[in-house]
Amino acid sequence: MDSSLQATSSTNVPVERARDLSHDLPDLGYDRSRTWRLGIMGGTFDPIHNGHLVAAEQAVGEIGLDLVLFMPAGSPAFKQDKLVSDPDDRYDMTLLATSDNPTFIASRFEIDREGVTYTVDTLQALRDYYSDNVELYFITGADAIIDIVSWRDAERLAHLATLVGATRPGYDLEAARKNIAASGIDFDVRYLEVPALAISSSYLRDRVRRGKSIKYLTDEAVVGYIHKKGLYGTEAHT
Ligand code: NAP
Repeated sequence: MDSSLQATSSTNVPVERARDLSHDLPDLGYDRSRTWRLGIMGGTFDPIHNGHLVAAEQAVGEIGLDLVLFMPAGSPAFKQDKLVSDPDDRYDMTLLATSDNPTFIASRFEIDREGVTYTVDTLQALRDYYSDNVELYFITGADAIIDIVSWRDAERLAHLATLVGATRPGYDLEAARKNIAASGIDFDVRYLEVPALAISSSYLRDRVRRGKSIKYLTDEAVVGYIHKKGLYGTEAHT
């Protein structure tokens, strides 16, 4: 046990407990003669859709990622006052949508952790779990990156991973760049333009609520799952 880790972690869930959740982390980095690039696709995934899948695929191609862990947030930090679907449903849909791609792995890592999900805890646990020849790339929406300076332990987070902000074409990155520059924190941020991000989870939820088709907007198995479980039917998810 690295005692410095314990001392620096300000989480409500100790990092050593998160480390015990390493059961679904892929074996990576064993060949020390090369660098491994691990993408962590962070999101609520309520539900996962083709925009997320295309963004991850683009990150694999443009950054040269070896694997992407799709990690639904258990209890998203900035959504404590919002209605979010059951974590197991969000995980199951993520599993269904990623199962045909060997480069994509659905992970329960954040789902199985109690308490509010803070990205810094996840990245610290991953950094601690993997050897130094594994580089971490945290991929999420550029809208989320805008607020990164107010995330828990932002300064520590900046040292743990390269951040990848996925945007739709034409998205104004000025606000994100300004916030990050003003913070004085040395974030390593890359942006990916992903046309498929015209699709959003809220768009899918809204269509389901109005009885419209979501076919081809997400994986067929996810469409079936949503209908079978009656997700997004009546509740006011916003
Ligand atoms: P959000 O505010 O719901 O999402 C903001 C925007 O980014 C939405 O347009 C969303 O579209 C998009 N987006 C989210 N994840 C994406 C992904 N992986 N790829 C492409 N676009 C994505 O964000 P959130 O889901 O709550 O949080 C995103 C990630 O940041 C999560 O892993 C969360 O744990 C982390 N986070 C951490 C902290 C913290 O540690 N304090 C605070 C906030 C967020 P869709 O709705 O279509 O996905």
